[in-house]
Amino acid sequence: MSRLEGKVAVVTGASSGIGEATAEALSREGAAVVAAARRKERLSSLIERIEKAGGRAIAVPCDVTDEEQAQKMILRAKEEFGRVDILVNNAGVMLLSRVDKGLTDQWRQMFEVNVMGLLYATNAALPMMKEQGSGHIINISSVAGRKVRPTGAIYSGTKWAVNAISEGLRQELLEDDIRITVIEPGAVETELASHITDEDALAEQRRRFGTIEPLQAEDIAAAIVYAATQPSRVSVNEVLIRPTRQAN
Ligand code: NDP
Repeated sequence: MSRLEGKVAVVTGASSGIGEATAEALSREGAAVVAAARRKERLSSLIERIEKAGGRAIAVPCDVTDEEQAQKMILRAKEEFGRVDILVNNAGVMLLSRVDKGLTDQWRQMFEVNVMGLLYATNAALPMMKEQGSGHIINISSVAGRKVRPTGAIYSGTKWAVNAISEGLRQELLEDDIRITVIEPGAVETELASHITDEDALAEQRRRFGTIEPLQAEDIAAAIVYAATQPSRVSVNEVLIRPTRQAN
């Protein structure tokens, strides 16, 4: 299938998990892909796989918490492929712990990546999308953007922010024909939880998800492809996807 032939997609956090699967899925649909993240080697092997499968892609090493690097990522997309049709703001971290543990560095990191990183990339892409007269920004939120649980207050705070920012952007940009989609996954089998340092939060994660079959990154990539391949009159605003056995 080549429903995205001629389109250019930038995917942040493409070095693993949902971002990596999304880069491959969008490429399979014919999009040229700009894969961004900090780990260069991981991006290189992704690009190799995409090219081997006949797709077009480049790796752009980028820390999205650095506004200048986010600007350069979008510029690089324009230099290489001439435009940006789809921006998938996927880069994210989930460093769960109770607020009274006071892990302020981890709070900062979550807000810087999950919220400011998304805003920097969006800010960089918007002028080009407005000039093109079209664009699609797909923001990866979470079930945690709808539900708050102990150890998840700050992470949920970042994802709540993603949802609010997305809805505001949707209203502000509809007359520019720029679509905004929020994707809200439940538990997906990726590296995300492996960065949690707090033992209590890890135990809670194991208790909640230890016995259920999680989603795969490809399941979320499929939802992103669904949103991205709708006719321009269709704006898929929000997609909530849980593993069948995830209660909340
Ligand atoms: P991964 O840990 O596999 O992927 C996270 C990605 O974000 C990596 O590619 C990482 O790349 C990138 N990243 C982290 N920090 C930065 C940074 N400063 N600059 C650029 N890239 C960065 O986890 P997932 O695939 O699961 O997570 C993707 C998104 O999905 C996140 O927003 C997450 O919150 C969301 N999500 C995940 C769920 C799950 O259960 N897995 C559930 C709900 C939402 P690198 O380290 O190379 O920079």
